[in-house]
Amino acid sequence: MLNIVLFGPPGAGKGTQSEKLIEKYKLTHLSTGDLFRKHLGEGTELGILAKKYMDQGHLVPDEVVIQMVEDKISSTPDSKGFIFDGFPRTTAQAEALDTMLQKNAMSISGMIALDVPEDILRERIKERGKTSGRADDQDDEKITTRIKVYLSETLPVAEYYEKQGKFTKIHGVGQIGEIFENISEVIDAY
Ligand code: AMP
Repeated sequence: MLNIVLFGPPGAGKGTQSEKLIEKYKLTHLSTGDLFRKHLGEGTELGILAKKYMDQGHLVPDEVVIQMVEDKISSTPDSKGFIFDGFPRTTAQAEALDTMLQKNAMSISGMIALDVPEDILRERIKERGKTSGRADDQDDEKITTRIKVYLSETLPVAEYYEKQGKFTKIHGVGQIGEIFENISEVIDAY
């Protein structure tokens, strides 16, 4: 079973690559950002809670995210494996994910980190904001906050997997298809 953490800052291309990867490897896409946006659209209690944080570019509290991921994993028992996109975003989430997977006799195959310089991230996020309708994609200050939060709270997660010998960095600038080929090569080696 393949369980992959697709990692990188906002705008790195995780969503785009995930779509292609789930098609190729028949995996389940688990994007915590997408799940929160779904709850938000449906006006659930969880969505209303998450919105307060998302609108500011801050992280939703760990316990809320972890519970949502646990529910998603247990409601997909027939999955051939997961692409985790936008999760884990803190070391506490990474530890919780390991525990969750162990309970189900699964583990993380590896983390693939998309490396993109900050100026390109900003350009991509603003471009996406023209069509995504996402408030957090359209405001310079919110984009700055999201990048800062990534650097301070999320980047340590890379080290967590590096220590386990499960970390690979991929250059995330260039043709989408070429980046996809490079990611596929890493996955094929798992
Ligand atoms: P994304 O679509 O991954 O950029 O996520 C959009 C927003 O959802 C983030 O800026 C956070 O507010 C929230 N979010 C998504 N995933 C997580 C997570 N793993 N931990 C905490 N907050 C998250």
